[in-house]
Amino acid sequence: MLRIAIPNKGRLADETRQLFDDAGLDVRARGDRALSASLGGLFEAIFVRAQDIPEFVADGAADAGITGFDLVRESGRALDELADLEFGRCRLAVAARDESGVNALDDITEGARVATVFPRITERFFRERGQVVTVVPVSGAAEIAPHIGIADVIVDLVSTGSTLRVNGLREIATVLESSSRLIASPTVRADAARARALDELVAALSSVIAARGKRYVMANVPRARLDDVRRIVPGLNGPTVIDIMNGGAFVAVHAVVGVATIYRTIADLKALGAEGILVTRIERLMA
Ligand code: AMP
Repeated sequence: MLRIAIPNKGRLADETRQLFDDAGLDVRARGDRALSASLGGLFEAIFVRAQDIPEFVADGAADAGITGFDLVRESGRALDELADLEFGRCRLAVAARDESGVNALDDITEGARVATVFPRITERFFRERGQVVTVVPVSGAAEIAPHIGIADVIVDLVSTGSTLRVNGLREIATVLESSSRLIASPTVRADAARARALDELVAALSSVIAARGKRYVMANVPRARLDDVRRIVPGLNGPTVIDIMNGGAFVAVHAVVGVATIYRTIADLKALGAEGILVTRIERLMA
């Protein structure tokens, strides 16, 4: 049994459950308040605070875990990062009051007070820049600190930036880009059975993440335009070309296409005279 620590609430919790669901690992908890759940035969989930997950995994209370990269870095613990799960994207940023006159890192004066929930990352960031600041650790709501006189600037997580804006703060630099990660204790690899289970977990979750950014495109295209089709839909190993019964001048082409370029692909296929274009989601993609 591999024990996996999963966020119990907050931004990462719902997306983590959805990911396990999509990977066919149904998180079957005994009721909403359960602290653990079985995950198929190989895995067991424990539900804990995202902040605690790096420590729990590093200490061996769980074999693996899902949490934000920001929290992994802040913990300072030695952990294997097995996959970027891509959700929970945000950045840790330095921000100052709009009217503070601080527009760049170099405007921050020596000894300035920096309020943050991430004291370890913040100290290191300014130390590496050779800037002397006083870090003021807070346990939340750092954005209020410059307004009540306990800090000059803050280092806080930013997603859309609207929290900073409504609090009269301006983002001046990025400290760290973050998203959710699958982490494991380096000791898990010492046990062959656990290492195998971990590899299965990485493959299951990564294949779902890889598929989210792709679509499967099917179209009937004029056989005479196949060279142009290859240029438009390269596919994983070139597009699949299938004869159509009574298709005559047309063949069916299937390919995996990046979701960001799907509209372009469809327009290009139409321009070649393609017909019956179908686009579907992919559940898993193992390259
Ligand atoms: P926003 O207003 O969208 O910039 O969101 C900023 C607020 O949401 C801050 O208070 C952050 O602490 C929090 N936040 C944004 N993204 C994340 C994330 N991925 N993980 C945890 N907290 C986040």
